[in-house]
Amino acid sequence: MVKRELLFNGNEKQVYATDDPNLVIFRYKDVTVAYNNVKRARFNGKGILDNRISSILLGYLNRKGVETHFVEQISDREQLCRKIEIIPLEVVFHNRIAGTLASKLGVPEGYKPDDIVLDLCYNNDELGDPLVNRSQAVALKLASCDELKQMFSMAKRAGTLLTRLFDKAGLELVDAKMEFGRAADTGAIIISDEISPDTCRIWDKATGEKLDKDCFRLDLGDVSEAYAKVLDKLNSIKI
Ligand code: 5GP
Repeated sequence: MVKRELLFNGNEKQVYATDDPNLVIFRYKDVTVAYNNVKRARFNGKGILDNRISSILLGYLNRKGVETHFVEQISDREQLCRKIEIIPLEVVFHNRIAGTLASKLGVPEGYKPDDIVLDLCYNNDELGDPLVNRSQAVALKLASCDELKQMFSMAKRAGTLLTRLFDKAGLELVDAKMEFGRAADTGAIIISDEISPDTCRIWDKATGEKLDKDCFRLDLGDVSEAYAKVLDKLNSIKI
C-alpha cells in the first residue's frame, strides 16, 4: 500500500489517498481546537495519544461486530482506514448530561438520567453543528430513514460496549460523539472519524477528574497528561 496525495487538511487530522481506491490514511496532528475553531493550541504528543486510543477503541468495536472505518494502526500518528462517503451528521451518546446539553436543558453538569440519551446534530461549522431531528435530516437529504435507524442502533451498541470497556479500566464514559459514512467498497453504514478523548467525555471513576478535551476547553490542565492517563488505564486491561 502506497501513500498518495493529501485529500483533506483538517485542524486536527489529515487524510491521504493511497494506491487502493477503497483505503485512505488518517494522520493525527498535535493541534487541538474547540468552540467551533475559536480556541486553538498545540500539545506535544497529543496526536500520537489520540491515534493510539482511537485505534484501540475502533479496533475493539470492529471485533465486537460494530463496523467502523478503522483497518489498522500503521505508525505512531497514522491509521489505515476504509474510504467512506461522509454523512454530515453526528450521533452523540450520553450516559450523563454534560457540556452543551446540560446548559440547554438547565440541568447540573453530570446529571445522570435513568437511561442513555441519543442526540443527532448536523455537522455544519457555519451553523454551529445544530441539533436536528430525524425528519429534518431526511428533508436535507443527509441520510435516509433506514440509514438513520442503523446509525442510532450502531451508536447505542457502540456506546454501550465502550461504557463497559472504560468501566473495566476505572474510567467513566460520560458521552461520546460518533460520525458515520457509507463505505466506498460495500456501501454499508460504518462508524468513521475518531473515538478518543477529543470526541468523548471521560472521567476518572475514583476521583472524577476530567480526562478529555474539557481539559482544554475549560483550561483544567495539561491535555497530553490527561490523555496519557486514559491510554495507561486502557493498556492496563485485557481488551
Ligand atoms: P457537546 O455537545 O457538549 O459540545 O459535546 C458532547 C460530546 O460530543 C463531547 O464528548 C464532545 O467532545 C463531543 N463532540 C460534539 N461535537 C463535537 C465536535 O464538533 N468536535 C469534537 N471533537 N467533539 C464533539
